Amino acid sequence: MSEEANPFESLQEQIDDAAAYVDVPGDVLERFKHPERVLETNLTVEMDDGSLSVFKAFRSQFNGDRGPYKGGIRYHPGVTRDEVKALSGWMVYKCAVVDIPYGGGKGGIVVEPRELSMTELERLTRSFAKELRPVIGEDRDIPAPDVNTGQREMNWIKDTYETLENTTAPGVITGKAIESGGSRGRVEATGRSVMLTAREAFDYLGKEIEGATVAVQGYGNAGSIAARLIESELGADVVAVSDSSGAIHHPDGLDTAAVRAHKDETGTVTGYPEAESELTNEELLTMDVDLLVPAALENAIDGDLAEDVAADVVVEAANGPLTPDADDVLTERGVHVFPDILANAGGVTVSYFEWVQNRQRFYWPESRVNDELERHIVEAFDGLTSAYEDNDLPNFRTAAYVVALQRVYRAYSEGGTWP
Ligand code: NAD
Repeated sequence: MSEEANPFESLQEQIDDAAAYVDVPGDVLERFKHPERVLETNLTVEMDDGSLSVFKAFRSQFNGDRGPYKGGIRYHPGVTRDEVKALSGWMVYKCAVVDIPYGGGKGGIVVEPRELSMTELERLTRSFAKELRPVIGEDRDIPAPDVNTGQREMNWIKDTYETLENTTAPGVITGKAIESGGSRGRVEATGRSVMLTAREAFDYLGKEIEGATVAVQGYGNAGSIAARLIESELGADVVAVSDSSGAIHHPDGLDTAAVRAHKDETGTVTGYPEAESELTNEELLTMDVDLLVPAALENAIDGDLAEDVAADVVVEAANGPLTPDADDVLTERGVHVFPDILANAGGVTVSYFEWVQNRQRFYWPESRVNDELERHIVEAFDGLTSAYEDNDLPNFRTAAYVVALQRVYRAYSEGGTWP
């Protein structure tokens, strides 16, 4: 994985690439390239042995022109201020592409969660929730899960917020367990939108997805569910998957559910007994497959590695898995990349449905969630391909940013500038 690309600079470059095709004045564009504010805090947490540890944490509120800030909270030792800023910016444009009424935000704590006990993680999470309390709210900023956080952390944050505010406000956070006000279909939503994007992409390009070969880098929430749905709903063969420990391969296709069960049991996909061989992550990313799904972290593919990518189509489940150099190389080589801000937007779209259900105190069956999600992703896909064709754009990422930038700019200009 390249250490070179700064994700915040990558975001700014992506906005600039799209701005060349959108009539946004330069000074307004500058505003769209920087967060409105970033909270930086140091959380002091009592460890189980009675000692204190300090953890740096961030919440970036990038742009609120289209609605409350929205975006996940990541627990990872590699979290930086610039990474959180980039992720919050990508959320702005993601919410705009799928046309849900949110701006963008993101949070992160610099921590290796595997080194903490559950009680330490709970104290850390509640400490962050206490710091976030003045800046979040159902109509202000609505966090959600991201890497290494899930329903458990969301439930703790909701409980801390509601206790301190002396109210019930389930819509303050999304990605909760069903019993805490979560939505049916939320856990699967990101993987589902990756599957839907792959289906639409192959259809648009005139390629057959049934029987196509697929490699998936990263086998967490996004990657493992995308792999399972691509296998079960589209009939493709997932021939290779990986996680941070390495990759496994079977030319006839892996049983994605069995690989998930093996990972749940052992902590990794490696050692899966039915795999034919084990590979490095780099070998997986350069395999000759019909579809490559990067679903781990940013900068998985840099310009050098992109020269060796042999897939015909890339659907980004992770946020920012390609550096701008990689994008240029793949565009040049005619590899079709369907960008993160469309492909993984299922997570935030169903978060939006969760928030709507929380506000209405009326809960939907899973079939309604999945139908509404499909409608949003297919409409967004069609909007993106129309922009691509109408403006003769170089690639689908630029098309997505053109659509999104136009929407953010319209919302901004209709509101006017407050002196
Ligand atoms: P996760 O923690 O559940 O899974 C991450 C996976 O990536 C793990 O299997 C981990 O082992 C693997 N990984 C880490 N480093 C790796 C490396 N160098 N090579 C190969 N594998 C590696 O996280 P997630 O929620 O699935 O998120 C993954 C990506 O998807 C992130 O970019 C996240 O921002 C994005 N995303 C997630 C959601 C969501 O709803 N979970 C929504 C939108 C975007």
